[in-house]
Amino acid sequence: MTNLVEAISAKLTNDKARVAIDAGERVWTAGAFDADIRAAAGALKKLGVKQGDRVAAQVEKSVEAAALFYGTLRIGAAFLPLNTAYQKGEIGYFLGDAEPTVFICDPKDHAVLAPVAAAAGVAHVRTLDANGRGTWHDEVEASDPHDAIAPMGANDLAGILYTSGTTGRSKGAMVTHGNLLSNAQSLVQIWGFNDDDVLLHALPTFHIHGLFVALNTSMLNGSKIIWLPKFDADAVLARLPEATVFMGVPTYYTRLLSDSRFTRDAAKHMRLFVSGSAPLLVDTFEEFEKRTGQRILERYGMTEAGMICSNPLNGPRRAGTVGKPLPGVELRIGDGEGGSLQPGEVGVIEVRGPNVFAGYWRMPEKTASEFRADKFFVTGDMGTIDVEDGYVSVVGRAKDLIICGGLNVYPKEIEDAIDAMDGVQETAVIGLPHPDFGEAVAAVVKARPGATLDGAAIAASLKGEIANFKVPKRVWIVDDLPRNAMGKVQKNLLRDQYKDTFN
Ligand code: ATP
Ligand code: MG
Repeated sequence: MTNLVEAISAKLTNDKARVAIDAGERVWTAGAFDADIRAAAGALKKLGVKQGDRVAAQVEKSVEAAALFYGTLRIGAAFLPLNTAYQKGEIGYFLGDAEPTVFICDPKDHAVLAPVAAAAGVAHVRTLDANGRGTWHDEVEASDPHDAIAPMGANDLAGILYTSGTTGRSKGAMVTHGNLLSNAQSLVQIWGFNDDDVLLHALPTFHIHGLFVALNTSMLNGSKIIWLPKFDADAVLARLPEATVFMGVPTYYTRLLSDSRFTRDAAKHMRLFVSGSAPLLVDTFEEFEKRTGQRILERYGMTEAGMICSNPLNGPRRAGTVGKPLPGVELRIGDGEGGSLQPGEVGVIEVRGPNVFAGYWRMPEKTASEFRADKFFVTGDMGTIDVEDGYVSVVGRAKDLIICGGLNVYPKEIEDAIDAMDGVQETAVIGLPHPDFGEAVAAVVKARPGATLDGAAIAASLKGEIANFKVPKRVWIVDDLPRNAMGKVQKNLLRDQYKDTFN
């Protein structure tokens, strides 16, 4: 049985002279990146990291950090990437929870985080900055490379990834070697990666999207990566001509579309644009097609289950849907009690397959409650399977479902109706405590640049279109919707902000 590290190592060593990662000012050949991985593995060994230990990092995106990730897997330890937005309190929680042997942070945070790490019992703290410099770098330079690859099996732990915390406190998902390998293999196949592909990598690497979907897939295929420190429209437009594949969250696409330099010509050589991590608005999909002649491929996944569904490479990519389950992934729409619903009905999305994680780190009860007896994982997303073509649509999160006077309201239906109105950029529909109905529907709307909207008029125009109990009782017009690092709208913040409206 191959493991991911073996497969990637074979790709890196088979043609050492090819460019593996082009980070602009610095370029790594496959041989150089492979050497960095072995050196990182050697440094971890020297610090006493053993198979099964954890290595945590809260660092800026860098190629050295990517080498640290693969070096960790190489010696059989589990990697724990932490969102750069997390502050002292959060880091203390994660380190205390995961008990890593080594914690690597940005040099500027060292004074604040070293005591936090010490309190959590972390043995070694090192630093790494965006340019790959710091005490971690020194450690790597002073260590012998470690060439052996720990024989990790499909069920062995490869990483603990904390979920984005969109619906509450982040949970540590135990991701296995089998999860990573099967998912990367599926994506290489279904997205048709070929020898000439060049991925433009602008995503953060503390999250599954940038670390697993983008990086593992390219590495497994032996594709060149153009490495950007972050998404920046200028940098993306500058390097786009050399790329063939781009992966982004929906906000990257709206930002590209708001830039007049992003033309049909600028995109015409591109083979594939992929979107995920949050719902892609139908509007964005259509505007993108109008501008470039290309249809964004939307896929659906989550920290706990890797990639679950994808629109097809060849075949209709349907806006507002996430396509069909990946090879080997089973998906059903649950009734909430262990049974399944018919195509066309809306229920909880449940999945089973080699992509599904091993459980939440040190949360056995939470893990048990999110799995059905037959091993299907309850994703917490609501969705439906199209009767005609079997495409899956995600209609929102179970936690965002609004129950108004005992009747279910799916926010997406109302969001779609408002989004379709002139001058509307994007809508978030939420449920707020209400003395009569339990919850009442309310909407928070962002206008398009230059448009003036009237909340009461929006609500009024929905009357007669949709059932009265679904019509928002209040509509606020705002400058921006709150989003987290992955571009996800934070409805929990909105619910909190407006919670006293009807009481
Ligand atoms: P938390 O679980 O901590 O609340 P989170 O669910 O946002 O945070 P992630 O694992 O990063 O953490 O995100 C997975 C979620 O993102 C999915 O469960 C789904 O709700 C959403 N998502 C991902 N891709 C899509 C998509 N194409 N369309 C709609 N939603 C998507
Ligand atoms: Mg989640």
